[in-house]
Amino acid sequence: MFNKETINKFKSIPTPFYYYDVEVLKETLQKLKEESDKYGFIVHYALKANANNAILEIIKSYNIGADCVSGNEVKKAIECNFKPKHIVFAGVGKSDAEINFALDNDIFCFNCESLQELEVINELAVSKKKNARIALRINPNVNANTHKYITTGLEENKFGINIWELETVVNALKEFKNLQLIGLHFHIGSQIMDLSSFKSLCLRVNEIQNWFLSRKITIENINVGGGLGVNYHEPDANLILDFAAYFKLFNDFLELRPKQKVHFELGRSITAQCGTLISKVLYIKKGVNTNFVILDAGMTELMRPALYQAYHKIENLTSPRPIGHPSPIGEGVGVRYDVVGPICESSDCFGKAVTLPETTRGDIFALRTAGAYGEVMSSAYNLRDRVKAFYSNEI
Ligand SMILES: *Cc1c(COP(=O)(O)O)cnc(C)c1O
Repeated sequence: MFNKETINKFKSIPTPFYYYDVEVLKETLQKLKEESDKYGFIVHYALKANANNAILEIIKSYNIGADCVSGNEVKKAIECNFKPKHIVFAGVGKSDAEINFALDNDIFCFNCESLQELEVINELAVSKKKNARIALRINPNVNANTHKYITTGLEENKFGINIWELETVVNALKEFKNLQLIGLHFHIGSQIMDLSSFKSLCLRVNEIQNWFLSRKITIENINVGGGLGVNYHEPDANLILDFAAYFKLFNDFLELRPKQKVHFELGRSITAQCGTLISKVLYIKKGVNTNFVILDAGMTELMRPALYQAYHKIENLTSPRPIGHPSPIGEGVGVRYDVVGPICESSDCFGKAVTLPETTRGDIFALRTAGAYGEVMSSAYNLRDRVKAFYSNEI
């Protein structure tokens, strides 16, 4: 990802900042399109993973729809020229203002998560004399085998309508005259590495479809959500994801009815690998059992490690003595460091006992695989400056 020239450019840009490799993003999208087109699958990009204008413009140019989880994301998608008929809107807590905004813009579909939400959307649609297209977000009770904070498809999670509530919901729908049921929606979690979780999802979707068919309810759209995981430990080994196996699995296991369309909502797998957080070493500090590398980036720029103990590969881009590689001043040996940020929280730590080449003040560090749920989650805590972004085709 980083050649000498790029690293030299990094030296002249004030840190910390996000660096996006546009080529990696484009290759990812190319592959994604190729593989999903094979089966006529429709892909929506989950804006919450990364909502930078430049990134959104590139994604949009590949004819991908938008998956939004707030009114402002719907607004952003429209501003970035995603067509309203390609926008889906999910979320357990849609406010009246957000629903009204989406109704006014005639988005493709509301993914609805509770009976009361259906009632409210219907009411708001009635007062606008409009019909709202809706999909029921069903909690399939399938384990995604991922971190508990990013598991969403179990009965104990707040998301979706539970299967035992379906009867009540379907009966209520008959009364909601301004709602048009066009699909079923599922999303079981994020950073799913074990494809068998998606197979379990497919089998559950088939059962649920049969339940609807037995009640003579036809479903035009099946939306299976997102969640495809990426390789945080060895990003360079899997820079471009294996979308082929992913889409093939759905084609193999989903039982589709004639003319039924399958939708996906991918976030992380599209943008994670193209983004890196670049930071400079401020200080090296001796600790009791380990030494600390103190970076000028912290949880305010990349919150995932503090929020859910996420791993990001840490690289020293400028050490003159890389581990295991001969260099002008000799081959380096590994030294263990705790790599931390400057924020006044003990959770502001990117990695404990990380083996790195010997590091000194001023070295430039890369926190890899930070293109999804990185910059979008950045904050101004400690009154920090908002983190900047640079793109490979601009620097
Ligand atoms: C977050 C989210 C996604 C995207 O998940 P990824 O793991 O980033 O692919 C898709 N659908 C819904 C409803 C979401 O909340």
